[in-house]
Amino acid sequence: MNYNPEKHVAITAALAAAQLCERVRCNRSPHAIEKQDRSPVTIADFGTQALLCRAISQAFPTDPIIAEESAALLRQPQMAEQLQQVTQAVQALVPDTTPDAVLDWIDRGNGQVSDRFWTLDPIDGTKGFLRGDQYAIALALVEAGEVKLGVMACPALPVNLTQPEGDRGVIFVAVRGQGSSRIAMGTGQTEAIQVRRTLSSQSEYLRLLESVERDRGNPALQRAIAQSIGVTAPCLKMDSLAKYGVLAQGEAALYLRLPWIQEPDYRENIWDHAAGAIVVEEAGGRVTDMDGKRLDYSTGAKLIHNRGIIASNGTLHEAVLAALRQRVLVS
Ligand code: AMP
Ligand code: MG
Repeated sequence: MNYNPEKHVAITAALAAAQLCERVRCNRSPHAIEKQDRSPVTIADFGTQALLCRAISQAFPTDPIIAEESAALLRQPQMAEQLQQVTQAVQALVPDTTPDAVLDWIDRGNGQVSDRFWTLDPIDGTKGFLRGDQYAIALALVEAGEVKLGVMACPALPVNLTQPEGDRGVIFVAVRGQGSSRIAMGTGQTEAIQVRRTLSSQSEYLRLLESVERDRGNPALQRAIAQSIGVTAPCLKMDSLAKYGVLAQGEAALYLRLPWIQEPDYRENIWDHAAGAIVVEEAGGRVTDMDGKRLDYSTGAKLIHNRGIIASNGTLHEAVLAALRQRVLVS
């Protein structure tokens, strides 16, 4: 299957969502609303989920969607003003939108796993979005437990990482068996991407990616593992799934997300990885959990059978797994 219709719908929706997010960021200086789990959400998260779920459910009405946000918070009477703001943000792209339609679209994202479903994160890296750093709009199509399509818009990612003041906005796209590519949002220029598999020990790209937020991994162990296998260039800290994009385009060699010491039983959300993982795999890299197992998308919103994430250029992967096994034996 070529997944062309799905790819077209996902790219168009992700582009519209990127416009919504950047408008909210420029015009309204977004502030955080606190969710029950104390993590932040903004009107852009809700608006983006409404737009994406609308686009998917109009094109593929029978496909379930498992997305990060729910409209429960926005349905509360004291949130009327925020609901109005979300509606206005969506109206800039879909003029006849009503608040009720926004709530219904957002709740289309409360679907269940089935043989074919979508998973999406309207804004991955909300903390990065609020800080003015990286964030990603991520959509993935899963069939028979395997990600088949991933589309990841990174509106704040420099087109050329070495020129942070230059053009920004990149969409990463991967279809199983067809490779990965990136589209510069400003020009539409599209190019195939590949991980960097051979790296001299002096290469600036022989570097580790990790989260900016310290409770999203185990930085001390991640760096010790990287050092022990010769990944010694200064580490690149970045919010969101954009890390997978940077690895897939060869500008880093390894992304480690080992469980935070204070939350060793944390299980990753499927929408935080599906789109990025296929982009890395189709660019020639490898993605597993910290035990070397493939990510199992068949169990619902959480990767309950997997602990931690290792994404690599492929050539480093076995060395990372061996170093981790040795650490576990030693500790
Ligand atoms: P990052 O942009 O790398 O900081 O990761 C952002 C994502 O981390 C969010 O989408 C959350 O779903 C996820 N997250 C929240 N808590 C944790 C945790 N304790 N360990 C790993 N990831 C987490
Ligand atoms: Mg997320």
